[in-house]
Amino acid sequence: MFEFTITAKNARARAGVFTTPHGDLITPVFAPVGTQATVKTLTPSQVKDLGATLVLSNTYHLYLRPGDDVVAGLGGLHRFMRWPHPLLTDSGGFQVFSLAQTRHIDDEGVTFKSHIDGSTHRFTPQRSIRIQENLGADIIMAFDECSDPNDHEYSKLAMERTHRWAEICVKAKRRGDQALFGIVQGGVQEDLRTASAKFIASLDTPGIAIGGLSVGETKEEMHAMLDVMEPYLPENKPRYLMGVGTPEDLINGVLRGVDIFDCVLPTRLARHHSAFSPEGRLNLMNTTFARDERPVDETCDCYTCKTFTRAYIRHLIVAKELLAGTLISIHNLRALIRLMEEIRIYIVNGTFEEKVSLLLDQWKNNANRQMVNE
Ligand SMILES: [Zn+2]
Repeated sequence: MFEFTITAKNARARAGVFTTPHGDLITPVFAPVGTQATVKTLTPSQVKDLGATLVLSNTYHLYLRPGDDVVAGLGGLHRFMRWPHPLLTDSGGFQVFSLAQTRHIDDEGVTFKSHIDGSTHRFTPQRSIRIQENLGADIIMAFDECSDPNDHEYSKLAMERTHRWAEICVKAKRRGDQALFGIVQGGVQEDLRTASAKFIASLDTPGIAIGGLSVGETKEEMHAMLDVMEPYLPENKPRYLMGVGTPEDLINGVLRGVDIFDCVLPTRLARHHSAFSPEGRLNLMNTTFARDERPVDETCDCYTCKTFTRAYIRHLIVAKELLAGTLISIHNLRALIRLMEEIRIYIVNGTFEEKVSLLLDQWKNNANRQMVNE
């Protein structure tokens, strides 16, 4: 279990297979996000039909509601949400830092107030592992602290804390059917990123996550950090770049040796009527689509593009019909999953490196990382 086999390489890009108790992950892979144990607006069979193999769920949210003990009592997260395929949970750290109404960080953990009812809770590395063991995902994350990348002094402190917490998580883990990934931090400082990659690699976890990127630094800084870490990441373990997922980020991440990605972007954009397309992001609410009989993307093989016109989807949006969110989510997720399938073929053929500029050009008008507010 949790073996990672690299089947082909093209420069630093890798095509591989990661075995988990709920099936093999063919990498590189993009994981849709199911924050509340659901990929918003989609049924599990719709998610599967998109070609998705891995779904991410959030520890912070499921701990608060319905409660990890409730999920455990109902047979674990796979059974609860009826997704019998690979699952990944985050540690709750990032969400506590970004969502909880108030939080106090100390060297042993974080005390915070729930964003739902203001009640007080505490996460420690041990507690995060215990909650993730109750949820039962195939891949679980060490509890880490993600700092503001532009606060260099604090980045060092957060990195050192992340390292101490990672050691505690490795010791606290009891279940043998879950792969715990350590997380590299270190802001946008080369020396910190190098030190963190070396330290996390020394813990010999079955995979390595890269945290603290796509959180306010520039694209150039993100690429530079991926470049400096890469030589220190073990070759024979999957690398997971957390929370990163514009089409351009996926291409640039794979180019720099990353195997696993996740992002809320495709489903969040869908709920705001925005669709990936070769013409750039389309806001399908726009009047210009009122009589447009074309699919969202003529080159796309998804159910939405094979079946519906832009005019129909615009009508659903204007009429505030829920189906609009579903149809655009199907298209946006399929677009990223199909991009990963295409990239994998190029890696296997040995042509990925030469295709990169073409791919980046195809997707350049979808590159904006900016999120719309929920
Ligand atoms: Zn489509």
